[in-house]
Amino acid sequence: MTKEIIVGTAHSKTPGVTKGELKIGESPDGNAINAPVVIVQGASDGPVVWLHGCVHGNEYCGTYIIHEFLGTLDPARLKGTVVAIPVLNVTAFQKKLRMSPFEGYNGGDLNRQFPGDKGGTLTQQMAYALYQPLKKYADVLIDFHTALTPDVRWALFPKGTGKVAETSEKIARAFGYRDTLPTPDTLLAGSAMMTAARDGIASFIVECGGKVRAFTDESVTDAAERLNNALRALEMLEGDVTDYGALNYFSSFEWVTAKQGGLFERFVQCGDTVEEGTEIGRYFDMHGNERGKATAPKAGIVLAIHPGPIMASGETLIHIGLEPKQVRA
Ligand SMILES: [Zn+2]
Repeated sequence: MTKEIIVGTAHSKTPGVTKGELKIGESPDGNAINAPVVIVQGASDGPVVWLHGCVHGNEYCGTYIIHEFLGTLDPARLKGTVVAIPVLNVTAFQKKLRMSPFEGYNGGDLNRQFPGDKGGTLTQQMAYALYQPLKKYADVLIDFHTALTPDVRWALFPKGTGKVAETSEKIARAFGYRDTLPTPDTLLAGSAMMTAARDGIASFIVECGGKVRAFTDESVTDAAERLNNALRALEMLEGDVTDYGALNYFSSFEWVTAKQGGLFERFVQCGDTVEEGTEIGRYFDMHGNERGKATAPKAGIVLAIHPGPIMASGETLIHIGLEPKQVRA
């Protein structure tokens, strides 16, 4: 049985691929700000998986992963439906910025504004426009983000009990990024993931690669295959589910900003284990003289680290996953 799914101008009524646009706001010239929509309705029944990228406008890796995935998705073999918004925060995307250049309030972080507000700031209106159809149709949300460098690979799902947490964890295991955060509800308020989970939608965040062009073709291909594996685990696609082995679940994370500025050379990679005090990089002055060591403030797994080569004080130095623990399915 087919279903009718309407997202903006994309009206999907029968199996196949339908494309259109979702209006998420208006720019100062009065024109619509439109996000692209692709609906792939499968030949038989199944869940609706919602994918979106570029909630943060300069996190382009997710857009490429979604395109790669859609490029091989055959509606005849699909049970259920995929709704994809490869680029959400369009005005930020155009300017290679994290947040919309037209947003003046609340910091403008779209991933802290869900479920949005129809009468709020531009970013709140964008969140509202996106979240209405998401809430109406989605059984599963997968949200793609990036951090600072090409070697970023980690994931998050909402921690809890019950069906939503169970399905979210199943997706995390099938995606199989080793470093994964079962996210307590004290973290990431207003994110699409935590908001959707509260509304009964299984959800998952992928962190792959870095901002702008800081990602590789290999990471895109790999993530698209892991996404296929998640759909196999959800029984939306045929085929064996790859077992990526034990995951490192951590309890929380900590962002640390740089106390000093200078030329910066990093000594650790994403995924490395650090102890409190491990030297993670070194600062140099404009003459090339060493002017200090950067050390890990806590023990854990490196989720993200500043790429250098230059850093002002107050920039994000490191993002650490705390208390990692190996957990098997
Ligand atoms: Zn992001």
